[in-house]
Amino acid sequence: MPSDLKISAEVRNAIEDLELFGEESLYISRVEENIKKGSSLSKQGQLEALYTRYGNCQNCALGSTRKKIVFGTGSLDFKVLAIGEGPGYEEDRQGLPFVGKAGVLLDKILASINLDRKTNVYIANIVKCHPMRDPAQPDLRGNDRAPTPEEMFSCRPILDQQIEILQPPLILCLGSVAAKNLLNSSQGVSQLRGKVYDFAYPVSGKKVPLLVTYHPAALLRNELLKKDVWHDMKVLRDLIAKL
Ligand code: SF4
Repeated sequence: MPSDLKISAEVRNAIEDLELFGEESLYISRVEENIKKGSSLSKQGQLEALYTRYGNCQNCALGSTRKKIVFGTGSLDFKVLAIGEGPGYEEDRQGLPFVGKAGVLLDKILASINLDRKTNVYIANIVKCHPMRDPAQPDLRGNDRAPTPEEMFSCRPILDQQIEILQPPLILCLGSVAAKNLLNSSQGVSQLRGKVYDFAYPVSGKKVPLLVTYHPAALLRNELLKKDVWHDMKVLRDLIAKL
């Protein structure tokens, strides 16, 4: 293990989990060594190296059915890293996160506090390939599902490397799947939102504030959630003002 990198408790837990999966050293080789290799490059260069490395990823079953891998998008001069659960139908086709109806709503929500993916937000997902209820029907709309724990586990090294490269000053979890995964919690989004958490970077252990709000797709289903999301955006705006 390189001596200049600290392993956080989260990574140690992940390594213990990996033992259950029979892949003891996977985390270190994927995350820590990759970060060390790319550390002499610019952020853009490190991201390009990361995306090249995983461009043909087949580390879980989602790799065999995706049309396009969806790593993330946004400004490298960002204030907030927004993290959703995974690509849906439109995202799978365009290779970009949050581009369907939920994406349009997300852009409006962000704009309410002067955030924009072109200038001050970076957007990524927990998994980078499209989870489908019925993978035999990839062109069926409404075939999306949440990623399984195994898929999230397989894909997490990519997000962890994105976090270490991007060094987000603030993290916003969009929805229950992202919140539970990043906070290692079994609670739902309605219980997790409304608080500011300390999130430790997966390898370096650096701590930054993390906030949880509803996934924009949930708002499309239930407009009553808008009030809570607006409250969350005001908290996020106050955190940004302190940066
Ligand atoms: S979801 Fe992640 S781990 Fe699975 S194939 Fe896609 S990039 Fe690889």
